[in-house]
Amino acid sequence: MNQATVVGAGVMGKGIAYAFAISGYQVYVNDIKEEVLNKAKNDIESLLENSCNKGFITEEVYQKALENLYYETDLIKAAKDSDVIVEAVLEKIDLKITIFQQLDEICKPEAILATNTSTMSPTEIGAQTSRPHKVVAMHFFNPVHKMKLIEVIRGLDTSDETVNEVKEISEQLNKEMVEVNEFPGFVTSRMNCLIGNEAMNMFMEGVASAADIDKAMKLGLNHPMGPLELADLVGLDSRLRNMEYLHQTLGEKYRPSPILSKYVKAGRLGKKSGKGFYNY
Ligand code: NAD
Repeated sequence: MNQATVVGAGVMGKGIAYAFAISGYQVYVNDIKEEVLNKAKNDIESLLENSCNKGFITEEVYQKALENLYYETDLIKAAKDSDVIVEAVLEKIDLKITIFQQLDEICKPEAILATNTSTMSPTEIGAQTSRPHKVVAMHFFNPVHKMKLIEVIRGLDTSDETVNEVKEISEQLNKEMVEVNEFPGFVTSRMNCLIGNEAMNMFMEGVASAADIDKAMKLGLNHPMGPLELADLVGLDSRLRNMEYLHQTLGEKYRPSPILSKYVKAGRLGKKSGKGFYNY
């Protein structure tokens, strides 16, 4: 495996592209918007430079990664020769299915088609392609350059060969992997969304300030980040889509907190918009 494509150059796509680039892959970064790709290039290059300055990667890896990154709005050019494609577009099932159908037409038969979905079904996505055995979820974590885990979700028809190949890729990326049988929200999102939603409801009810809810979880329960600062980092629009999907599939327990919906309507999307539960 030596060529990867990342579809969607937002919060996650940039981090995933970085992870492949420092692991020796040629990486095509794809987005529909030229301006998003320009920003992605700047952000990925700054991250690489920072990592090199701090000694996390060598000068040689840094230079090679810069050479190996390509930015391309044309999905055909970006994906046709790649061995692994990771889709990281918005959490909308119809959009993901459309992209996988395009990838199915474009990509080599042996290519792995992976989704970075936080909650959705690789079975449902794979069923809309002619190669459900090659479709899998590779769920990376934010920020990708710091987080060690890839949660690998096996759809109903994902083959053992594909799961084994994804294991190898995870090792090449210097990540740890857990294997999960598909169920909405997998292990991490199902748990994390519930904790975050409860924190939002407590904030809304006036139980404590955002800072004190987060401090309580960090110092009292040893969470490395508070649930509200984590939601701001994820993006409140993304979190709302995750909650809506879990609410539809798993029921009432996952009803999105009203304050989450209200913030998204107001354009408070967390860190990426400069305002969420905190100001940035
Ligand atoms: P984001 O909104 O930051 O980025 C999505 C990108 O997809 C945008 O740049 C958009 O222009 C692009 N896009 C939309 N349609 C496209 C198309 N047809 N072709 C190519 N690009 C297209 O979203 P994100 O937070 O990076 O989330 C992406 C995925 O990763 C979602 O499925 C999300 O659930 C999942 N995820 C997010 C996080 C997180 O912390 N944000 C963590 C794990 C997984």
